[in-house]
Amino acid sequence: MICRERLLERFLRYVRVGSAADPKSSVYPSSPGQLELGQLLASELIAMGAIDVEQDKNGLVWATVNPSGSTAPAVLLNAHVDTSPEAPGENCNPQVVEHYDGGKILLKNGIVIDPAESPELNALVGHTLITTDGSTLLGGDDKAGVAVIMEVAQSLLENPNVKAAPLRVLFTCDEEIGAGTRHLDVSKINASVGYTLDGGGAGTIDVETFSADMAIVRFQGRNTHPSVGKGKMVNSLRALGAFVASLPHDKLSPETTADREGFIHPYHISGGVQSSEVHLILRDFQTSKLATYADLLRELAHSIESRHAGVKVEVEIREQYRNMGDVLAGFPKAADLAEEAFGKLGRPCRRDIIRGGTDGALMSAMGLPTPNLSVGQYNIHSVREYASLNQMIEAAEHAICLLGLWGEQ
Ligand SMILES: [Zn+2]
Repeated sequence: MICRERLLERFLRYVRVGSAADPKSSVYPSSPGQLELGQLLASELIAMGAIDVEQDKNGLVWATVNPSGSTAPAVLLNAHVDTSPEAPGENCNPQVVEHYDGGKILLKNGIVIDPAESPELNALVGHTLITTDGSTLLGGDDKAGVAVIMEVAQSLLENPNVKAAPLRVLFTCDEEIGAGTRHLDVSKINASVGYTLDGGGAGTIDVETFSADMAIVRFQGRNTHPSVGKGKMVNSLRALGAFVASLPHDKLSPETTADREGFIHPYHISGGVQSSEVHLILRDFQTSKLATYADLLRELAHSIESRHAGVKVEVEIREQYRNMGDVLAGFPKAADLAEEAFGKLGRPCRRDIIRGGTDGALMSAMGLPTPNLSVGQYNIHSVREYASLNQMIEAAEHAICLLGLWGEQ
């Protein structure tokens, strides 16, 4: 039912449209390529016969596909059209490796994708892989998801006899810079469950994300000319440095934690003698731990104040997102049916947790339970990125099976 050649062509067409998110931009979406790709997707959705097709004023692309006339509640499939700004994204020149032989993949500009560094390759012998020429990222994150959803939509429209729940399609913008749901009206989704197709590999159902807050710790000192600083100058940078040095680093840091362990991570400092600040992120799977981490920051800040006369320290905590597992626990069917669909297809699967966030976490918090599914992405955000066409096909077959299960509910 899934057309291999068409899915490949689709993926190649989409990755050629440069759509890197731009963290410095003040407009939405942050780059014109996202609008261009969205326009292409909307016109393809109209051409294939989808209904309610719309690219809204913020660049989000919407559509409905329900050729079998199902009256079951709709299911959302979501992917993001932007790519990471962490590697060049313009002028992507995709390369297709047929029947991958298990060896090193030499890219045109001399960069190598080596199974010694990318051991996931060992499980992909015989697959059709797509790489770049080594000068850009591929953008399989998340154009693999975009291409799979488009192929699912077209396959359903071509096979109205296939029983499936109504499909709501949504392509979002600027996910990579944390703004994927900024202009999302969740009531417009009009579905009972959602899935983001934005995961690596195959057979994975991500059911938990971190819970996340950020902290800004501000240090207020007093500047004078250094020549007359004696007894007058209060250098905020000394207090800031002492504060950062007092943070836990042999535990509770990204460098020393894995799996379910949380951390406090200082990632940016700015300022001068008069005032300075450090930005930190707080992460844990247990939401309640974030308050403990915030308390620790306040304690350390207090102790810095007492040791640096004249310095004022202020700690501000901002909520970012919450573990979607807390929402999914109240709606177990979302992951259960995804698992059942893998079983029906005779494929192994596993539930996993993400040491980060997804748009699905934010959608879950807005009331739409939205786990994340794998779509064959590898080495994302890098010029060594690649994607497996075989696993994209598997993801499309899984999505159709899953829509079928929801149609029976
Ligand atoms: Zn992504």
